[in-house]
Amino acid sequence: MAGIYIHIPFCRQKCYYCDFYKTVNTSLIGNFIKALLKELELRKDYIDGEKIETVYFGGGTPSILKKDELRQIIYFLNNTFDIASDAEITLEANPDDLLPDCIEMLLNSGINRLSIGVQSFQNEHLKRMNRRHNVQQAIQSVENAAKIGFKNISLDLIYGLPELTPNQWNETLHQVFALSFQHLSAYHLTYHQGTPFYTWLKKGKINEICETESVEQFNILIDIAEMYGFEQYEISNFAKNKMYSKHNSSYWSGVKYIGAGPSAHSFNGDERQWNISNLKNYINAVENGLSYFETEQLSKNEKFNEFVLVHLRTKWGISISETGRKFGKENANIVEKELQKYQKYGFVKYNGNYYALTREGMFISDEILSNLMIV
Ligand code: SF4
Repeated sequence: MAGIYIHIPFCRQKCYYCDFYKTVNTSLIGNFIKALLKELELRKDYIDGEKIETVYFGGGTPSILKKDELRQIIYFLNNTFDIASDAEITLEANPDDLLPDCIEMLLNSGINRLSIGVQSFQNEHLKRMNRRHNVQQAIQSVENAAKIGFKNISLDLIYGLPELTPNQWNETLHQVFALSFQHLSAYHLTYHQGTPFYTWLKKGKINEICETESVEQFNILIDIAEMYGFEQYEISNFAKNKMYSKHNSSYWSGVKYIGAGPSAHSFNGDERQWNISNLKNYINAVENGLSYFETEQLSKNEKFNEFVLVHLRTKWGISISETGRKFGKENANIVEKELQKYQKYGFVKYNGNYYALTREGMFISDEILSNLMIV
């Protein structure tokens, strides 16, 4: 079992909080696709011929691709890799791109899961983030996607925004959950260095919400998600009827994946590779047989840290026996002792096999995880 991530590095405009690699210059889409297909060909042995269970078009804005461009990539993937007949094929889309014709085209091209970046249901916040769409477009895009035939729709939301009040957040969530969709990813705003939000924060032009408000918004999120039958299966991810993201779940369980396109990462169990975060240099390097990625061999400690980090963020938690099998009894005992300390205070629960974070534990997950890391 393996996965493929494809980074489409084009956006129509840049959101003020975003630090993903992207460009608004779309003149190189054709050259990019040529280089991308070449990279996929070069990388095909990286996952040792394993069956592909998930393909994920992320970005950037993959919904910027025209029908022929997307079909060219999908056709190539099908001819180059062993893609499972029931593979989850996700495409990230912006609401303003998702007009009925586009939705039909995506469905007919083989995309079976849409991840729609609605981000907020308040026009003032959408404007402040420099999103291109408005609330009406967001609602329309989700309704159309469901009506046209997408049965696996995920929405992205951001909370913890400057001046987002608990009432607005509450209202947003009720509006969101009134729609027909199966999965929600909700992330607290992070101020990434190099973004306008970060600069404005440093200059005092915007204010970060305080920790109490962050916790309050996180609690509102979990309560309302539960109320609408969504299960929190990872700190930031919620699913209805067990429609977990197979792609994210495979990252968490350490399966191999190819990441193609500028800034994309690949992983084969022992090493991680990351591509150049510059479109022109990426195209030039791939086309001319030059080096376009760096490689990092993962040490045993790094593998251990990653294992703990990804497992403890999920509702399934961490198994001490599995930790012992993979990283030795000594490390497993250290993890267990540390988690038992938090268990006493109600931050961690134990079901006889697994230790997992309680809701209170999720609030302090960074502290718990940093105490478990081997440095
Ligand atoms: S959030 Fe998405 S649409 Fe906005 S700039 Fe980042 S990648 Fe582009």
